[in-house]
Amino acid sequence: MALVVQKFGGSSVATAQRIMAAARRAIRCKQAGNQVIVVVSARGDTTDELIDLAHEITEQPPARELDMLLSTGEQISIALMAMAIQTLGQPAISFTGAQIGIFTDSTHTKARIKSISTMRMLQALQQGKIVIVAGFQGIDENDDITTLGRGGSDTTAVALAGVLKHDLTPRSSKEAVLAAATNEVDCEIYTDVDGVYTTDPRIVPEARKIDELSYDEMLELASLGAGVMHSRSIEFASKFDVPVHVRSSFSDAEGTWIVPEADWMHAVVVCGAALVRDEARISIQGVPDEPGISHRIFTAIAERNIVVDMIAQNVGSGGRASIGFTVLANELQPTLEVLAPLASQLGATVEHEEPVSKVSIVGTGMRTHTGVAERMFAALSQEQINMKMITTGDIKISVLVDRNDAVRALRAVHQAFRLGEPRPGAGLPPLPGQASEASRGFRLRPTSTPGERTGLDFNALTQRLANMEDILISDIFLTGDQGRITIFDLPDVAGNCSRIFQAIAADGIVVDMIVQNLTAAGRAELSFSVPETDLARALQLTQEVVRGIDGNARVVSDGNIAKLFVVGVGMRTHTGVARRMFGALAQRGINISMINTSEVRVSVVVDRARGADALEALKEAFHVQ
Ligand code: ADP
Ligand code: ASP
Ligand code: MG
Repeated sequence: MALVVQKFGGSSVATAQRIMAAARRAIRCKQAGNQVIVVVSARGDTTDELIDLAHEITEQPPARELDMLLSTGEQISIALMAMAIQTLGQPAISFTGAQIGIFTDSTHTKARIKSISTMRMLQALQQGKIVIVAGFQGIDENDDITTLGRGGSDTTAVALAGVLKHDLTPRSSKEAVLAAATNEVDCEIYTDVDGVYTTDPRIVPEARKIDELSYDEMLELASLGAGVMHSRSIEFASKFDVPVHVRSSFSDAEGTWIVPEADWMHAVVVCGAALVRDEARISIQGVPDEPGISHRIFTAIAERNIVVDMIAQNVGSGGRASIGFTVLANELQPTLEVLAPLASQLGATVEHEEPVSKVSIVGTGMRTHTGVAERMFAALSQEQINMKMITTGDIKISVLVDRNDAVRALRAVHQAFRLGEPRPGAGLPPLPGQASEASRGFRLRPTSTPGERTGLDFNALTQRLANMEDILISDIFLTGDQGRITIFDLPDVAGNCSRIFQAIAADGIVVDMIVQNLTAAGRAELSFSVPETDLARALQLTQEVVRGIDGNARVVSDGNIAKLFVVGVGMRTHTGVARRMFGALAQRGINISMINTSEVRVSVVVDRARGADALEALKEAFHVQ
């Protein structure tokens, strides 16, 4: 007997007929001998309609009251679902988040789960009932209703599966229901598509269904815009090792399995692409180039619970640097409000641009292959699409483009990696072992980049978390074998970056971190890291290309860098990570010259002389031995 958590999204419970269909599915699962928990979202567009209703009253609804309102959508669904199941002759009981003790922090409209009490659910299961739980909602320490952020029912479902799998119920309440606890837990997400596609099939019709992808890949894809799953649900899946099956509520077809990383995945350099349409780019020009400045800026933003997305920390020259980053377009105003007083204190200017869109590619194979960035940049260059910002992570590359170019950019990239064709994990059986993608023009890296967390007792690490949804930092380390190239004052024209990376790649040099940002009007600054042994050659090649672009652009290299990696889960969407890193390093007077963030790894470049010191500071800040 297994415990199965089935989550039905808004479209899957939009009408009475669909509720009955979902109810039948839950009953079938129960009759097959399983215990069943059903998590439901609000019906159809209910949540949007409730938000509109609030806006008819006031432009800025108070967050506590908005949560009170939004949570009603799910409450309707659970009651109807319980009625449907009972009408079909099976015992069922519905619970709100509060009733089953989904405790969250008090960040209304985007609360994070602290703990879940399993007792009431287990008791009902033991009585042979199908348990129906309202997704997307919880309760804080003041008994106020909270919601988890749009799309948050996925997170409720996977968190329930995780907590039941590891039986994390507090001791006192646990004894009574211990007999009911089972460790075999399945999590099924029923939605209006038959799985996770290589990109949103509504935007790119050639997109192909993926059969299997890793937690890290899905986490990155979701947090980079793949709306099919709430990214925070995948943090839970990864931390609690809950395989997730995403499938259609309208058929019995096999969907997509989100599972632990397997060897064959290293052979797939890109598994999917994603788009965030509405971002805003903010650039702070002329800040003093000294430790502590970024920390002040990102702390102020994090204190307003605003998630900074792409960060392009520029190298700086003449004692002044610029910092570029993006936030979601709807968070631009509060971000500008936070920055205004800071900028005037620092003697800096703040510029912003919107609407801009972010196009990203994701794939585990990027850890073991090179040539991925070149192909992406070449595809965009061919389409004459200018990249306003570039950041990389260990298994992702993101570029910021004009919103008008967004869909064209996504299509171009999707096609460049031939994501519409069958390949291992998407229409073909997985390849055994570590096959190479050499036939498709990608080369194996001499050494794979750190990021994997093999050999770690993840479960033990997870159990140490004070709150279920805390970020999990599993490792921090340092490498000193890289050098950095920086190009100042590059004209901001489509194709320039592509030309540089083509030249570097043609010489077989492996590029790791890439950061590009716009500085003064019409100029770009591009930095990237290469193995130190290739630094002189990379400098020469870059200089040759740049000379052909613009005589005013300057190229410098720095062989004295150290790179630090912080590896974990959920690092980009937790507002505090960049702040904590910047803070720890600033406290010791260590300047960060490059930073790359992703959900599973943050890398920073510092002076090599300060490398060991920086490592110690970060280990201390994140309590890693
Ligand atoms: P639910 O209400 O069931 O939670 P969502 O609307 O949240 O459903 O998610 C399903 C939708 O996600 C699909 O209809 C699809 O348009 C969109 N989507 C975005 N990216 C992807 C992707 N990579 N694969 C599949 N669907 C995607
Ligand atoms: N009903 C909520 C929303 O529309 C949560 C969810 O659907 O997952 O965002
Ligand atoms: Mg959803």
